[in-house]
Amino acid sequence: MRVIDIIDKKRLGGEHSDEEIHFLVRNFAEGGIPDYQMAAWLMAVVWRGLSPAETFSLTGAMVASGDTLDLSDVGRPTVDKHSTGGVGDKTTLAVVPILAAGGVAVAKMSGRGLGHTGGTLDKLESIPGTRTFLEVAEILRQVKDVGACLCAQTPALVPADQKMYALRDATSTVQSLPLIAASIMSKKIAGGGKSIVLDVKVGSGAFMETIEDARALARLMVDIGKAYDRRVVAVLTDMNVPLGFNVGNSVEIREVVALLKNEAGGERRLRELVVYLCGVAFELAGLAASVDAGRSVAESLIASGEAFEMLCKIIQAQGGDPDYLRHTEKQAAAGVTLDIQSPRGGSIRHIDASVIGLAAMRLGAGRETKDSVIDHSAGIVLRHTVGDVIAQDTTIATLYTATESAAHRVATEVAGAFEIVDGDVDQSPLVYETISG
Ligand code: URA
Repeated sequence: MRVIDIIDKKRLGGEHSDEEIHFLVRNFAEGGIPDYQMAAWLMAVVWRGLSPAETFSLTGAMVASGDTLDLSDVGRPTVDKHSTGGVGDKTTLAVVPILAAGGVAVAKMSGRGLGHTGGTLDKLESIPGTRTFLEVAEILRQVKDVGACLCAQTPALVPADQKMYALRDATSTVQSLPLIAASIMSKKIAGGGKSIVLDVKVGSGAFMETIEDARALARLMVDIGKAYDRRVVAVLTDMNVPLGFNVGNSVEIREVVALLKNEAGGERRLRELVVYLCGVAFELAGLAASVDAGRSVAESLIASGEAFEMLCKIIQAQGGDPDYLRHTEKQAAAGVTLDIQSPRGGSIRHIDASVIGLAAMRLGAGRETKDSVIDHSAGIVLRHTVGDVIAQDTTIATLYTATESAAHRVATEVAGAFEIVDGDVDQSPLVYETISG
């Protein structure tokens, strides 16, 4: 078999055999196929697409490129969760402890933020001492002993994806539904969870800007799951508006802690989504008779404090200081704080997630390039949300950053992210639809 023939076949719109795809992925992962040939094939896929059968083969070949986690002896139902990412999306940090407190084992591997979207690992690393790189044996031990872990993708799992994703990033070949679906699902399948909840974000702050694209991606991932004996539910959720009030790292940890401590005054949509995703997961795991029953379980685990205690246990097991969660006032303060006032009175109709995400990144909370260094104390706290009626000069957001000049550089764009109108406003739904196998 020759690589050039495989590239040629896809360039001309042909359909690969399972054997061809396994040959390509295996040899690329092992270093036998140079980046330029793989990049040519990836670009051919972007233009010609992959059939469902080819996408299933690609997923399987990627899983086979490395180790897989065997969670079969943890003694509890296993669930994994994935979000396609967005602005202020800290749901993983709340959902995982709630599920673990409710008897579900979760080996959650996450990524870092890039551009306007945040990453769970960066948020975790804002908690002093927290290790996010865990060896496979440590992941298994922690999931068994504590109930869950929150860590980085291990290099031994799906190494083909790690190499392919870096190449896709550098060759403008990320935007392909089958490549995205195979990349995400290969990691979920290798992660060992029998049930998988996918939060597919839709909107200006998300990878998928239209409901049609999000639906197609969700459908494909659910079908891949079915082909590999996983129960998958994909929830299409809004990401036109930031999720929650806080966008950054330490500030998002603070918001998660407040939610899990059942404090009043949190942002309604964040709590609604966390509880909904838990409801879906508890039902998938067989621990609740319906999503609604699963939501009630989640609510009671928050109200009893068990979910918060579980977050402390997970962090402590990974070397982090749970005292930092119990007393968030101990968080390192940002160098500069700047309040942003509303230029007019009225109802908030919209807050542009991508503008807020980019502004948070420029304040130091995110990465412009892979090598950017994060300032964990930087970020934005929104003081109002969609539907609120405010007077002129009301503080609508507070910026946290290192220098006055960094704060003033983004002040105008943060104010401009708020659309404020006369009269009542409609609120877009949080959950658009749920797709299952
Ligand atoms: N996230 C992934 O893990 N892979 C992709 O290809 C895109 C988003």
